[in-house]
Amino acid sequence: MRIQLTQAVTLDESGQRLRPIEMRIVDGVIDSLSERPLPREEGWQVYELGGGLVLPGLVDAHTHLYQSLGTGLYDGLGVNAWLEALIHGYTLSEDEAYDATLLGCVEAIRSGTTCVSEMTELAFADAAAQAILDSGLRASLAVMVGDQAEGNNPPDMNTHQALAATRSFFERWNGAGWGRLKVLMGPVGLAACTLDLVRGMRALAEELHTQIVTHCAEGPTETEAVRARYGASEVEMLERCGLLGPDCALVHAVWLSERDLQIIANHTGRVVHCPSTNLKIADGIAPAAALLKKGIPVALGCDGAASSGTYDLLKEARLASLLAKGSGMDAAALPAEQVLHMLTDYGAEASGWSGKVGRLAVGYRADLTVLRYPQAHLLGERGLLSRLIHNTAAGDVAAVFVDGSPLLWDGHMVSVDEEALVQRAAGRLRRRDFGPGAYPQKGQPPQAAPQEWAYFSRRTSKND
Ligand SMILES: [Zn+2]
Repeated sequence: MRIQLTQAVTLDESGQRLRPIEMRIVDGVIDSLSERPLPREEGWQVYELGGGLVLPGLVDAHTHLYQSLGTGLYDGLGVNAWLEALIHGYTLSEDEAYDATLLGCVEAIRSGTTCVSEMTELAFADAAAQAILDSGLRASLAVMVGDQAEGNNPPDMNTHQALAATRSFFERWNGAGWGRLKVLMGPVGLAACTLDLVRGMRALAEELHTQIVTHCAEGPTETEAVRARYGASEVEMLERCGLLGPDCALVHAVWLSERDLQIIANHTGRVVHCPSTNLKIADGIAPAAALLKKGIPVALGCDGAASSGTYDLLKEARLASLLAKGSGMDAAALPAEQVLHMLTDYGAEASGWSGKVGRLAVGYRADLTVLRYPQAHLLGERGLLSRLIHNTAAGDVAAVFVDGSPLLWDGHMVSVDEEALVQRAAGRLRRRDFGPGAYPQKGQPPQAAPQEWAYFSRRTSKND
């Protein structure tokens, strides 16, 4: 398949200069880039982008798309009560999981995302994988597995079953869609995993040549539970199990000590920052600026919409920038150039697509996000990158390409029958209560944490 994109602009590597861009794509890979118009040749499919602003496809480095039907149903629950309510109340059949995941895919595509790192549940993992495959998105998929009780939530498998289920899912889905899907290892988080499972996951990742993603230090309660169990922090324990490395993404990483930051940096680890979830279910505030200052690439994640209340990676970018500035009392924290990396190549690295997506460069996959340009709120050249980070949202996305194929074109979904899907999903919401509803709430667990764990979240001045 030979595709030519024309009539577009892009920002140069510095993010300070706008330049015209023409692109040729062969078999899903960027074959040539030019600032001058390329000749039209017979047999090439041409897409005229109407002056649109082309970016490397945005990468959502952590999400749970299957939670889309729970959006707006779990207000007022802190992280532990939220998790318990979700585990016991948000139970999906395979058909429901397919539609819920596909609905999440539509939101992802409409907001300019080309690649997601999805953590899904074993009970409907195949349906979720099929939905993502059908949506046309690129994805890293991990089945969340745990073999240890976390609070009131007993494990639904033992260590052997967790490893076997992961291996089997990998064998079924890794490389599907001509390489568009990749399967990662997904120990759900140390609070719900034995050390044997964590070590087993590292061994399996090595054997299968894939990466790892895990929740880490999201809320104070589970962070403290791990410390009480082992006498060491989550990060320290993950290091002892050999899990950390450039191929391991730690999601959330809110409750970190200075020592934890140094350990992650020593292992060239990756972190995924999910600001909307961290605020809405009162996890705390992740030390994104401090992590980046240590040289740790921090990617962005929308997380599940049942916890974040929204799905829009551009909104997450804006929020990450503002949170870092406001919580650290440092207006220079997370400059727009850095946030663009968080949205693109850092996300690709955290999701296992390093060197394949995240840049507009010859040899990279042709995953592209195209914004309408110019518009009243997105124009000019000087300051354009700041406008892009602080002043755009899903509605600005005109087109999305994955492997050179359009998933969204002129604001319309191409890869999914959106109208039919929305009708089906609305019917499901009428028939079933997906909220905490019948599940008896036990009240909010204590959210306060000892001072040593509260260092970053309570920090109000960079001079503290
Ligand atoms: Zn998550």
